Amino acid sequence: MKSQPQVGRLSKPEDGHWVTLSDGRHIFIGGDAPPASGVKFAEGEGEYQKTWDEYYANRAQTLAEKEGYRGKVNVINEDPEKFKVGNQNFDYAGTFAGGKITVNQKVVDRTDLPAVIAHEVMHDKWAYINDQRSLERAAMLNLNVDDYKFFFTPNGSFRASQWPEFQRQFPVTALLAQTTGVGLPRGIPRKEENLAQMIKDDGVTDYSKAYWTPESLAQHGTDRAINETLAEITAARRNSYVHEQVSPLWWKLYNGINDIYAKR
Ligand SMILES: [Zn+2]
Repeated sequence: MKSQPQVGRLSKPEDGHWVTLSDGRHIFIGGDAPPASGVKFAEGEGEYQKTWDEYYANRAQTLAEKEGYRGKVNVINEDPEKFKVGNQNFDYAGTFAGGKITVNQKVVDRTDLPAVIAHEVMHDKWAYINDQRSLERAAMLNLNVDDYKFFFTPNGSFRASQWPEFQRQFPVTALLAQTTGVGLPRGIPRKEENLAQMIKDDGVTDYSKAYWTPESLAQHGTDRAINETLAEITAARRNSYVHEQVSPLWWKLYNGINDIYAKR
């Protein structure tokens, strides 16, 4: 006896739908994912089946690669660890450590996955930017006399007229000089008031705001606060939050990092 197909409920019709077959199997037709975990599903006309776990891992990997990430995303499925930022509690949804992204399937559903992956990939971008900053600093210290004189006066002041060439040779240093102004060698022109403005501007999410409180700055430092704010800007974009919340200085930094990371 054939049972009547049962159509599951989904937020968007283009996501496809669940059908329960006469043998009791649940299959998913159309779209790219089932709405709930732990059930086997078939894509299309039941050509093949994947477990939710496999689907999730593939989706996480694909999303990360779309963000420009070249590593392998590690998926875990555990009760989340809690952590504190300032005086606020959060659950670990994803982490970035030692160049590796991990995402917790138990915390992050498929709707939130793009934003969480984008957040973690931004940590990889920021790590890359910091590495490049160090390399550029070393290159600046090793400038030969003629090149040094090209960029700097005898008393060590930067020659403003050479900015375009400086920007070409030291793009990360130039980007940071125009935004946060943090962690740059002496003599590189920067606006000291920029960081204060960026701290004031930060209004992306409660999570990134938490890093700018005095308690959190004392615990985690400014670099971490910048890093988490950039990550939340990225996550917010993947969630289509209101873009106007992001100020011009943050946009400049965000766009600059994405350009540099994409060209690596
Ligand atoms: Zn983060």
